[in-house]
Amino acid sequence: LGRRINAAVQDLSRAPNLDEKAFDNMVKEICSALLAADVNVKLVQGLRKSIREQVKFKDLPPNTNNNNKRRLIQQAVFDHLTHLVDPHSEPYKPKKGKSNVIMFVGLQGAGKTTSCTKLARYYQTRGFKSCLVCADTFRAGAYDQLKQNATKAKIPYYGSLTQTDPAVVAAEGVARFRKEKFEIIIVDTSGRHQQEADLFAEMVQVQTAIKPDQTIMVLDGTIGQAVESQSMAFKQTANFGAIIITKTDGGAAGGGAISAVAATHTPIIFLGTGEHMMDMERFEPKAFISKLLGYGDMTGLIDHIQSITRDSAAMKETQKHLAEGIFTIRDMKEQITNIMKMGPLSKVAGMIPGLGGMMSGMSDQDGTEKMKRMIYIFDSMTAKEQDSDGKILINEPTRMTRIAHGSGTSVREVEELLTQHKVMSGIAKNMGQNKANMARAQKMM
Ligand code: GDP
Ligand code: MG
Repeated sequence: LGRRINAAVQDLSRAPNLDEKAFDNMVKEICSALLAADVNVKLVQGLRKSIREQVKFKDLPPNTNNNNKRRLIQQAVFDHLTHLVDPHSEPYKPKKGKSNVIMFVGLQGAGKTTSCTKLARYYQTRGFKSCLVCADTFRAGAYDQLKQNATKAKIPYYGSLTQTDPAVVAAEGVARFRKEKFEIIIVDTSGRHQQEADLFAEMVQVQTAIKPDQTIMVLDGTIGQAVESQSMAFKQTANFGAIIITKTDGGAAGGGAISAVAATHTPIIFLGTGEHMMDMERFEPKAFISKLLGYGDMTGLIDHIQSITRDSAAMKETQKHLAEGIFTIRDMKEQITNIMKMGPLSKVAGMIPGLGGMMSGMSDQDGTEKMKRMIYIFDSMTAKEQDSDGKILINEPTRMTRIAHGSGTSVREVEELLTQHKVMSGIAKNMGQNKANMARAQKMM
């Protein structure tokens, strides 16, 4: 996104004749870049209108030099994008000397548990007595994952292995830490893979039980189109007061950030920039847009536009990989996700090499359940892991443990998935080899 907008402005700078037509073209190009980056159509129309109004190209004195025109345009683009990610409402500011309760919400795999620890650590290092409460009773390993993170960060935590009602665990944890005069009490909740009704019911129950001072929605920055509807659904039910966008280290969060703020009129407070505890940046609208437009630091900014064509691009990538005999874990994820979209399992599983065997003898229901659990596992992997051939996971078993915890599955299931992946990638290799042989044979003929 940044690159494309930046290119549009640069093109204009290079245009020998900085006339109204060149200006119109630039505005058009910026708008289509925004549209392509999943920003809402109405927002883009509004932006187009206001850039035109602010610059009033026609009314500029005829002797305005090109530099000044360019500066005016750059300023207008900057102002309006900044305006879009700035909801002009202040997020909750925790106060010293009292218990500030912060509840996290978001879908499975969005990065809640990771971000909880990051935030607790953030406040801890700023002199707040901080702690964590695990109210994710949905997934078996959730408490373990939080425990591990908290222990690493030396942050006190609370959770239960026996209590299955998240509202009860949350209330117990909050009550205990209030009594102990903790100043930041962060409550992690469970997510589901989809926006399921029971997730929302549970969220409201926890919220009612603990009455948080702030609810934070954690949004995966790489989900593209889905940002708007997802953040709106959560806003309507949980009325969160702040957003954390995660996984921005891939560079794909520009459109998502703009859409999320515009859809919910809620400020973004932090960006997750990696898996580790320190990988978090404060969100600042001006700095963010400046970086986005390439006015400031351009490093790490990867074209967001790729993420819109995500599905088709991912499929193309997989096909390309297959032709080369490569088959990453992400390729496997694409295949599984696509099958789940296509429905009745027994019909389609057989069409994918290597999958028919895995699903044979299973009812559609069991097969679907199995694939769902596989998706949970994929979701808990990092991008690097998904793009690998699986060896880093096999060579570093702690990764498997982390993934099993994060996905609420077992290490055995993660291992099983990796074994299955190996089978499938073996088939892919053969296919690649055959194609290569055929190509060679054709050349010789
Ligand atoms: P939850 O299900 O919402 O609690 O999500 P988790 O906190 O378990 O995170 C899911 C996966 O995303 C894990 O593999 C995390 O390491 C990873 N993750 C979370 N935040 C970030 C981030 O900002 N950048 C990257 N690259 N990975 C992240
Ligand atoms: Mg979690």
